[in-house]
Amino acid sequence: MRYLFGPVASRRLGYSLGVDIIPHKVCTLDCLYCQIGPTTLKTMERKPYVEAGPVLAELEEILANKVQIDCITFSGSGEPTLNSCLGDIITGIKKMCSIPVTVLTNGTLLNLPEVRAGLMQADIVCPSFDAATDAAFRRINRPHDSLTLDLMIQGLKSFRQKFLGKIYLEVMLARGINDSPQELAAFAEILPEFGADRIQINTVIRPAAEDGVWAVNPVILEHARKLFGPNAEIIGGFLKERSLHEQENIADRIVQLVGRHPSTADDICAALGLTADLVHEYLTQLLTQGRIIKTIHADSTFYRVFGFPSVIPDGRMDVEK
Ligand code: SF4
Repeated sequence: MRYLFGPVASRRLGYSLGVDIIPHKVCTLDCLYCQIGPTTLKTMERKPYVEAGPVLAELEEILANKVQIDCITFSGSGEPTLNSCLGDIITGIKKMCSIPVTVLTNGTLLNLPEVRAGLMQADIVCPSFDAATDAAFRRINRPHDSLTLDLMIQGLKSFRQKFLGKIYLEVMLARGINDSPQELAAFAEILPEFGADRIQINTVIRPAAEDGVWAVNPVILEHARKLFGPNAEIIGGFLKERSLHEQENIADRIVQLVGRHPSTADDICAALGLTADLVHEYLTQLLTQGRIIKTIHADSTFYRVFGFPSVIPDGRMDVEK
């Protein structure tokens, strides 16, 4: 497979089949926290990096294998809206299957009508919005010279006016870069104007493009959540800090996840955004209660629900041991 990967467990989206239609690493930004390394081509020019045909041929092959997929997600080696065929590819996917399509985008090209039009058939669009002031925008996102925060803001607003699917806006906070009281207050002022269905607050919990980029203190994350309004949620780590009620939901969410798809502890951490310690604690508890069982497959331990032989991540059928 050249353009599709996975399905992989995603912190936000469950089991997600990835679509990567941009060469490494072409982007309009060069974010300090980027997990895929420094931008090698910073550009605003859209090109047909790959057309719909080869991508849809790969999808046809994967669908024929009947692997369970919760969603199809455009992400990968750069900014997907830089591919001028994105709209055709989404249209093609929608003709082939009913799996929801999600696009992770940095949102910088949403001011272009053709980009907005190409995204109209997606089910969920997750744009990033990491800075509410020009200074922070330049600091954290290191944008292409022709890009301004104002253009981004206009694009996000225009997109919401026509797009009927869900918008999950991600705000990545980094310690000492965009988490000051002034920056958080500026976010709180502008965020309601985007009409996002969810505001997902994240922080740097994976290795970043640059050294010295650190996660924000959990107390500040919680402060930001309250400040950003009722549809804001924290999707980074630190779930240990949450209430008992939310922790009870974690047990149910783990059972639901492994009931749909046998998962390793790492998959569960990634899919639900939980720390390894916390997942270990819950898995021990759920095994003792008999709500889940363990299966060893190809030297990995998978957790699953008893009595349901189902497809394991490599696509083969698993059986009770
Ligand atoms: S927008 Fe995404 S791909 Fe581009 S530099 Fe930022 S994090 Fe990396």
